Amino acid sequence: MSCTSRKIDHLRLHIPRFDCIPGCHDCCGPVTASSEEMSRLPHKSDAEHAAALDELNCVHLGPQGCEVYDQRPLICRLFGTTPRLPCPHGRGPDEPVDPQVEQQVHRLIATTRQVLV
Ligand code: SF4
Ligand code: SF4
Repeated sequence: MSCTSRKIDHLRLHIPRFDCIPGCHDCCGPVTASSEEMSRLPHKSDAEHAAALDELNCVHLGPQGCEVYDQRPLICRLFGTTPRLPCPHGRGPDEPVDPQVEQQVHRLIATTRQVLV
């Protein structure tokens, strides 16, 4: 397992979870991820990517919400857990993410090659 993969697993564990409004996906859209995170996601064709992008959607958003929830990228996990990425519906964990963890997520994003999910 690469160093980046270990960091991703560590950060995943330390971003608090919370219950979203059932069926809501208002914060989903085109997002980027590192190649390590991409390797954990199912392959999508160029046509599927183009169709999703045309509608400013994420290619993994299905009729029932995120279809890759267990493997969703760090930026999706961070959303709603910090005042800097607030849920528009006021949802979030009891305790926001530790600012150091948030910083580590942004550092990982800034120091890895990011591609459109
Ligand atoms: S974080 Fe908020 S906007 Fe995003 S899916 Fe959950 S409830 Fe909806
Ligand atoms: S990976 Fe899932 S949670 Fe993230 S933007 Fe796409 S559909 Fe939404």
